[in-house]
Amino acid sequence: LPEAATRILEGLNPVQRQAVEVTEGPVLIIAGPGSGKTRTLTHRIAYLIATGRARPYQILALTFTNKAAREMMERIERLVGTEAARHIWMGTFHAIFARILRREGHRIGYTPNFSIYDTDDAERLLRELMPRYQIDPRQYSPRTIRHLISSAKNQMIGPEAYARLVASPVQEKAARLYGPYQEALRKANALDFDDLLLKPIELFEQCPDVLRQYQERWRYLHIDEYQDTNRAQYVLARKLAEGHRNLCVVGDDAQSIYAFRGADIGNILSFQRDYPDATVIRLEQNYRSTRRILKLAEAIIRNNRDQLEKQLWTENPEGEPIVLIEALSERDEAQKVEQRIRDLHVRYGYAFRDFAVLYRTNAQSRSLEEALRRGGIPYRIVGGLSFYQRKEIKDVLAYLRLLVNPHDAASLQRVINYPARGIGQRTLEALMAYARQHGLSLWQAIERVEEVGLPARAQKAVQAFHFLIARHAARVTSTPVDELARSLLQESGLFDELRREGTPEALARWENVQELLNAIAEYVTMAGESATLSGFLQEVALLTDLDEMPEDNRVTLMTLHASKGLEFPVVFITGLEEGLFPLAQATQDRKDLEEERRLFYVGVTRAQRHLFLCYARSRYRYGEQQPSVRSRFLEELDTDVIVTEAGLPFRRGEVEHRSSRTSRSGTPGFRGSHSQQREATRRVVYDEGVGEIVPGAYVEHPMFGEGKVLALEGQGEQARAIVFFPEVGQKKLVLKFARLRRI
Ligand code: ATP
Ligand code: MG
Repeated sequence: LPEAATRILEGLNPVQRQAVEVTEGPVLIIAGPGSGKTRTLTHRIAYLIATGRARPYQILALTFTNKAAREMMERIERLVGTEAARHIWMGTFHAIFARILRREGHRIGYTPNFSIYDTDDAERLLRELMPRYQIDPRQYSPRTIRHLISSAKNQMIGPEAYARLVASPVQEKAARLYGPYQEALRKANALDFDDLLLKPIELFEQCPDVLRQYQERWRYLHIDEYQDTNRAQYVLARKLAEGHRNLCVVGDDAQSIYAFRGADIGNILSFQRDYPDATVIRLEQNYRSTRRILKLAEAIIRNNRDQLEKQLWTENPEGEPIVLIEALSERDEAQKVEQRIRDLHVRYGYAFRDFAVLYRTNAQSRSLEEALRRGGIPYRIVGGLSFYQRKEIKDVLAYLRLLVNPHDAASLQRVINYPARGIGQRTLEALMAYARQHGLSLWQAIERVEEVGLPARAQKAVQAFHFLIARHAARVTSTPVDELARSLLQESGLFDELRREGTPEALARWENVQELLNAIAEYVTMAGESATLSGFLQEVALLTDLDEMPEDNRVTLMTLHASKGLEFPVVFITGLEEGLFPLAQATQDRKDLEEERRLFYVGVTRAQRHLFLCYARSRYRYGEQQPSVRSRFLEELDTDVIVTEAGLPFRRGEVEHRSSRTSRSGTPGFRGSHSQQREATRRVVYDEGVGEIVPGAYVEHPMFGEGKVLALEGQGEQARAIVFFPEVGQKKLVLKFARLRRI
């Protein structure tokens, strides 16, 4: 073996080594957290290169986030050198297939400069379509409709098939808009995120020669976090692997947490059925966590029924006890977290970057942030409203996107009159109507504005805008990207607009725009000769909210979902309360509940040395401070690795506000507790009898769409329902007025 290859194998245990050395044929690595799955994948790719079995460009590696791809790339560079690593095809499914579509999309009617629409753009498009199909956006939210269409696309259900499946009024609206939405995307030369996976399938099916070309090119395929692939990703992987059949997938069914987004745990479970000759490798040694943390993880997952058997052991020490922190309120919880961080920082010398504070919902970050800010502890939030989702940034990006793809209607509408330049709603509607009548894109209508029959002033304003964009678009290839962006923003009046307002908020927005220009300049420096505006826009479009990670020395705050694949010396899991974790709407169905439990499992297994489990006895929810009940995920634990803050062993069920009676909530197998007060409320409601609207029932609201009733309270005229709507969140509605209909 070449020396480099030997070195690559040395960093692995015998089973991991086997996974690397079996390079031919399908391979399934199924193993628990921290067992080195990602590390094995990384070494496998390096090994293929070092032994000369594959040229770098013959290797494809698909990851869940861009950050994961970058990290793997860096490690491979260290193993085989920068030059060799550079040509590996490595990235998220979306990034890789966007790249393919730029090259080959012309075969199915897309030019290489297509735009990528995020959820915001897609909703804008739907909102605009709705009136034309007699649907009132105030009655049916474009968000819900977009969500429904996206779910259908995720499962590869087309407009006609979807129309046949319709089972409720809101779905009927989605079905009506699905086809026109796809047409509008095409007219705008745009693809939404789902299309980035579906169009390649279409491409491969319509052009077998293109498929063959990629099947031949990629001799070795790798997928990390395979348990979270959806139907379309599964189909793509299968198609591409048909050539050489060297498909290596890595995953853990116990960590599948994206079913709500269409991920199909069945993909990992059926790998062996699809590839009966697959080599199956199980890694059992955990390198990440202490024994206590692993014991807790096992105790958690034992409560799930749908789980493959897996053993995990470690040579790591027993480690520190896991501490259960009880707080009075979310404020108190945040303060306790802050104190523990300070204490560990001082006493053990942990750096701030060693800490992660995890929560179930983004809203929980606020109180944590406040406490850390007060305590002077540097922190960073991953996710939430990311930089690239901010309005001012999206405005600037819309301008830049227009230079590359002027047919991009969402971007065009966003900036045609921002800053205000005398192109009012009526003018815009006239332009859109003209475009529709003549089968043109909005931009093409603008190009022929004289024929639209606008008042002279409006026509002049449109022409000026056209000139602004066209003039800059003509310079796209000849002018450095950062210079072009600066010039466009200057001349569009956007800089002046932000400056003129003079408020601190406007200043902050102006600074954000400057920050974006810095990012462009940075991109130009990094990409050198090959820097193009569309290259930059593509990178930005494919950034996920999980990608903005702290590189500097700060505490990380993030959702449990975002923590997948990561590890930290110290981890806090906060908000372990009924209704929050597990989320209320997940408690009615065993499958949903098991997914929540897997999420708890994922969170716990991020911890290397210290783990804290936190809950508050009251929390501000539905607009008031409400008593909360400790999570069933704690009550059901059968383990001795947890201690209370006082250092006493934790025994489940031992908490003063626990009701001794078993639950009447109708959730089978729930051994948890409810406060007397809640129990009382429930009983009243049941006795009162509010007809069909009962907890757990599915209902439809004229505006919020479909939802699930979580709880009822009050009586008679005052009776209210707390309903969870997938798209708008939780709402408390007075039954008398809510016009809820059971579905
Ligand atoms: P997850 O399921 O959470 O994604 P994973 O199985 O991908 O976990 P890795 O992140 O690859 O696990 O590895 C966990 C940690 O253990 C990493 O810090 C990794 O470097 C280390 N590790 C894995 N295998 C070995 C080994 N053979 N020798 C030393 N350290 C190892
Ligand atoms: Mg991993």
